[in-house]
Amino acid sequence: MTAKEHTYLGVPVKKPKVAFFEFTSCEGCQLQLLNNEATLVDFLALLNIVNFREAMSEQSDDYEIAFVEGSITRDDEAEQLKEIRARAQTLVAIGSCACFGGVNQLKNRFNDLAWVKEQVYGSHPIESREAMPLSAIVPVDLEIYGCPIKKEEVERVVTNLVLGKSIDYPKYPVCVECKANHNVCLFDLGQPCLGPITRAGCDAWCPSNRLGCWGCRGPAEKPNVRQLRQIMHEHGFSDEQMLDRLECFGGFGQYVSELKSASKE
Ligand code: SF4
Ligand code: SF4
Ligand code: SF4
Repeated sequence: MTAKEHTYLGVPVKKPKVAFFEFTSCEGCQLQLLNNEATLVDFLALLNIVNFREAMSEQSDDYEIAFVEGSITRDDEAEQLKEIRARAQTLVAIGSCACFGGVNQLKNRFNDLAWVKEQVYGSHPIESREAMPLSAIVPVDLEIYGCPIKKEEVERVVTNLVLGKSIDYPKYPVCVECKANHNVCLFDLGQPCLGPITRAGCDAWCPSNRLGCWGCRGPAEKPNVRQLRQIMHEHGFSDEQMLDRLECFGGFGQYVSELKSASKE
């Protein structure tokens, strides 16, 4: 073994060249990575980072893994994403914006996008079209969910990626983690919550802080949306209130349509 080799449990591992990119986003997901000071040094030691605008000024087009944050709302973003895809062996979408369109896709609900643009930007000549997830433009190898992403989950996913281990996510809903944290259910405190149908993995971040889940991680496996609708009704919440949450991050597309149809019955 040479002095330059990096090891994990005594086994030499190759540090992949990694690049981070952002499109239409608040950059909060990238900031999450940098915030984790307790484990940041160990995490970075696994990677050879060649591009990370929030953390360094050097840039390179030579990378194996690309982490991409943000949704696509302009033609030049779509072109740049295609270039990143062509260079990277593995493309990872990070955060709800990249995975589902995120809060940016809320504007897609309006029929007249020109009107939306005028309300936000006035007469400034800014291009901004329908917000799309990365997968609408290029194939995506991995998705890391959340708004923002949970840094512990990213570190686990990245470590497994580097070590060639399998990567999986919880299939069960947020309620499982919420109960494990011994929280009082927010429905009993008069708040709506999408925890019963949302993919876990955030350790019930919002309910543990007395806020109902808004579904930023998208649907759990086989979500029972009809049952949640019944629970919402029993607690005095309307279909419109449930739809507001389901539509917020863009991960529940098919279920939004189903609920809209059920509302008309
Ligand atoms: S997913 Fe949320 S935190 Fe991450 S970039 Fe989008 S808006 Fe920001
Ligand atoms: S607060 Fe939300 S996540 Fe927690 S048990 Fe109730 S419905 Fe489930
Ligand atoms: S509780 Fe829901 S909205 Fe909050 S972080 Fe978890 S999945 Fe996202």
